[in-house]
Amino acid sequence: MIFKTIVKEDLKKLFNVHLKDVECVGPKQVATSNDGKAVYQFLPFESFDEINLNHEKTEYSAKTYFLPFRETLSTFNFKNGDWDQEIKYRKQQRVLVGLHPCDINALVKLDKVFAKDLFPSPYYRSRRENTFVIGIDCDKPCTDGFCASVGADVVTHGFDLFLRDIGDKYFVKVGSDRGLNVLNKISPTDISPEERKSYRKKTKEFLAGFKNTIRVENLPNTLDIEFESPVWKKWGDKCLSCGSCAMVCPTCYCYGVSEQISMDFKKSEKVKQLYSCNLLDFAMVAGAHNFRPARETRLKYRYYHQHRGFVESFGEPKCVGCNRCGRACLANINPVDVISDLQMEL
Ligand code: SF4
Ligand code: SF4
Repeated sequence: MIFKTIVKEDLKKLFNVHLKDVECVGPKQVATSNDGKAVYQFLPFESFDEINLNHEKTEYSAKTYFLPFRETLSTFNFKNGDWDQEIKYRKQQRVLVGLHPCDINALVKLDKVFAKDLFPSPYYRSRRENTFVIGIDCDKPCTDGFCASVGADVVTHGFDLFLRDIGDKYFVKVGSDRGLNVLNKISPTDISPEERKSYRKKTKEFLAGFKNTIRVENLPNTLDIEFESPVWKKWGDKCLSCGSCAMVCPTCYCYGVSEQISMDFKKSEKVKQLYSCNLLDFAMVAGAHNFRPARETRLKYRYYHQHRGFVESFGEPKCVGCNRCGRACLANINPVDVISDLQMEL
């Protein structure tokens, strides 16, 4: 890994001068919450002054720029007893700036499923390959996140450039060739011993600031043993089956595909739409049989996918500990409380 430093003004110049013709997306304040905190979303911006890289965390994740809520997979035209199919992939370049370690670790997990597993998705890959990712370390842990517990508080790959604020400069990790090419447009400098020291100090302060933790070492086994635990009913009874948790989650990727045919039978469209395992009909099959009719079973399986199934497939949890699901949940269901409750059972 190559490390450099840049002065903060130069990052602004990079966007306002060198990247002005590329679509840029970053954390923009969209509202203020009832308790007076700024609410951020990843949104397109024209000028660097519209975004804030000191944001706490965005309400929704950046997932939508790789796995949009709804996308057309292909369109079909039927003519003279024959048909043709059209498939489009996104090729336009995009820069996504301001992703925190949890956000980038979430992308690395999605890569495992959609870019590297047995059946890579060309739709996901074209978006991922055409998106230049600039991440930034959090100054301090967010109030309710538990990324350190699930190993998502540091990043080693999955980005082009990764910044840490060290005062009047950014300490930059270069994660790709194209990252270095872009960085070279603003004359980065080699790291001085003083800057290295500032970086270490800031990182140490960040790691010492975590208050929210869960124990995940033995969680897959705990989940196996506690499959019939009353804890699932306790939390399942509160769940509204709204699916908000999966929509805001940076790693929830379950989806459905439907075929929409025009009234004159001349065209059809295959549409993919993200779905949530908490929704009532998620496990419904032909004949209207529902394998998970009870709320507790659907809630339980979301936790099993995050903390057991994904571990079995990829050796790590799917959850990156951002607690966006906990914040979005109207029933106050959050991973720290559910998992702690489950561990109390043992
Ligand atoms: S956001 Fe909360 S209430 Fe809605 S489905 Fe998820 S856990 Fe249930
Ligand atoms: S399950 Fe919740 S805490 Fe874990 S990555 Fe998804 S939104 Fe974040």
